[in-house]
Order: sequence, then structure tokens, then C-alpha cells
Amino acid sequence: MKILIVEDETLLADSLRDLLEARGFETEVVCDGESGAAYAELGVYDLVILDVMLPKLDGWQAARQIRARRCGVPILMLTARSGILDRVEGLNAGADYYLSKPFDTRELLACVNALLRRQGKQVDELCYGNTSLDLSAGTLSCEGGRVQLSAKEFGVMRQLMQARERLVSKEALLERVWGYDSNAVENHVEVYAGFLRKKLRSIGSNLRIEAVRRLGYHLEVDGE
Ligand code: CA
Repeated sequence: MKILIVEDETLLADSLRDLLEARGFETEVVCDGESGAAYAELGVYDLVILDVMLPKLDGWQAARQIRARRCGVPILMLTARSGILDRVEGLNAGADYYLSKPFDTRELLACVNALLRRQGKQVDELCYGNTSLDLSAGTLSCEGGRVQLSAKEFGVMRQLMQARERLVSKEALLERVWGYDSNAVENHVEVYAGFLRKKLRSIGSNLRIEAVRRLGYHLEVDGE
């Protein structure tokens, strides 16, 4: 799990990083709202922790920008402001939860875990090329039709749609779709990529699942 920390106070950013990394999360820290929004939109993070008072773009502006680009990553806003209007502003801007500084680290971790559990319920569909993945129905569709995915097909497709043209490693797919404890091997991923290719073709999708030898997969849009 990868968490983006957008915080300009170095000491707090460092302590958040240490706290989260000690619990096995990967983290990345950026110090202004503009970089925060740009990084969040990359789609590689499972959660964004976003301060409100930031240089360049404030946290509200950054959250609005992230949502305007249809990026559904969960956003946990952190701020010294705790007035009701500020909370409403944060939630309207697209934040999923709001935590006032100073916060108890146990509360922060509880929020992070709750938001990660809820992940995927924030957006209804992921779109790329001419194709959309309905996150509640588990269907892939484009003009040519609609097809139901199995649970594992859906898991793989979702990871690929989130990453778009960026490479998703086989290890990451195994970990995120099959889970740490499963006996699945890389061959399973290849089999499911094959199922998905067939289904994409059957509905006339212009998405191609490209394999990068031994490394993993990424999507490409035909004709672009
Ligand atoms: Ca700040």
C-alpha cells in the first residue's frame, strides 16, 4: 500500500512517514499543494494525506483538482483548523475524512485503515480509452457492448485501469488481487491477462494489455 503525504511542515511530514512506514506502508512526501495534486493524479497511491495550509495550492484547491480529474483516491485532510465550516469546505472539496491537528497517532492510523478498507467505493467507474470498468457491477463496457468480469479478472483489470500506461508488476498484481497468503503464482496473472484480452476484444475495446517481458503489464490505447 502506497500513501502520499502532502505536508509542508518537515517535522510532521517526517513523523507521518516514520509512523506509516513502521506499519509497512510505502510513502512519498511532497511539500506543496501543486505537487500533491500532480502526484495524486498519477494513480499510484492508495491514499493521500493532505494538509490544508500549503504553499502553491492549498489542500482544498488540491483536493478539488484531484477530484476534477476523476481521480478517486481516498483523501484524508489534516489541518489545524477545526471549525465546522472548514470541515464542510474540506468535505465539499472532495476529502473523505478530516482530522484536526494535533491528532493522536492511533486515531490517524484508524482513519488510514478505515479509508483503505473503503477504497474503491469512492468512484463508480474507471475510464480509459473507449472503455469503462464499473466498480460496483464489475462489468467492462464500451460502445460495442458490456461483459461481466469474474472477481479475479475484475481485480486485475482495476489495477491496470488505475495505472493506465504505467507498468504494473506481476508481483503487485499477485499481492493486490490474490493477497499475500495465497498460493497463486505469476502464471495465474498471465492466465487472467489472457481472459481479459479476450473479453476486451469481445466488446470492441481499443485497450490492449501489453506484457513487458518478466516484469508485468500495462494498458495501451490503440490508435493513440
Ligand atoms: Ca501546513
